[in-house]
Amino acid sequence: MSQRYYIVGNWKMNGMRAALSEARAIDRAAQRLPKVEVAIAPPVTLIAAMREGLTGTGVGAQNCHHAEKGAHTGDLSAPMLREAGADFVIVGHSERRADHHETNEQVKAKAEAAQAVDMGVILCVGESEAERDSGEAEEVVARQLAASLPDTAQRLSVAYEPIWAIGTGRVPQVSDVAAMHKRLRTVLTDKYGDEGADVRILYGGSVKGENAEELLAVAEVGGALVGGASLTADGFVPIIAAAAEQD
Ligand code: PEP
Repeated sequence: MSQRYYIVGNWKMNGMRAALSEARAIDRAAQRLPKVEVAIAPPVTLIAAMREGLTGTGVGAQNCHHAEKGAHTGDLSAPMLREAGADFVIVGHSERRADHHETNEQVKAKAEAAQAVDMGVILCVGESEAERDSGEAEEVVARQLAASLPDTAQRLSVAYEPIWAIGTGRVPQVSDVAAMHKRLRTVLTDKYGDEGADVRILYGGSVKGENAEELLAVAEVGGALVGGASLTADGFVPIIAAAAEQD
């Protein structure tokens, strides 16, 4: 099944209300380029305002708790995020795996909690620089994905994000991206059968306007998860435009 490219901005812990003007400018571009599915995951504090103000752009969260409710001070559940206006959630980002010691099992449970309230899921995986240098990257990431996948492929996307490429300005060789995405596709079809072929696999890690065309043209790359360059319309719109220009 051919699907639209999915270009998602991960704003991380960036963005006060003043940044809503950037989101609105991104949204105007998204409306002009309907060939591309565009989304932003802002800090939770901006979800409701973005949901209200944007019409052509999906709005999501960057994490959720796996439980529906309970004694988890400071956490937010998938139903709460959905009620606030989030339509999808990013789970398993390497910054959460590192900073909050999130395990594959927890990532799987978070993905299933989001699916239970019909939210989309973007499940992140990726290798460290040492794992890439030792030639184990494909093996490590395939194992990480297999252990993190939810039981069904309902509204699921995967993001391959080499940790050493995030926020560094470095990107892997196009041939390495191609090999990894091919390998991850196999993990998905092994788990979900034919449905695994329809799960979009995004690339993430220092995607910019200048390299987006080349990365998005790689076989099995169905979009991009973008950090730094998604914070402004000037940074993000050229990436959306590059996706719109793909065949
Ligand atoms: C990310 O953190 O998901 C990411 C891809 O960041 P950046 O684009 O800044 O490398």
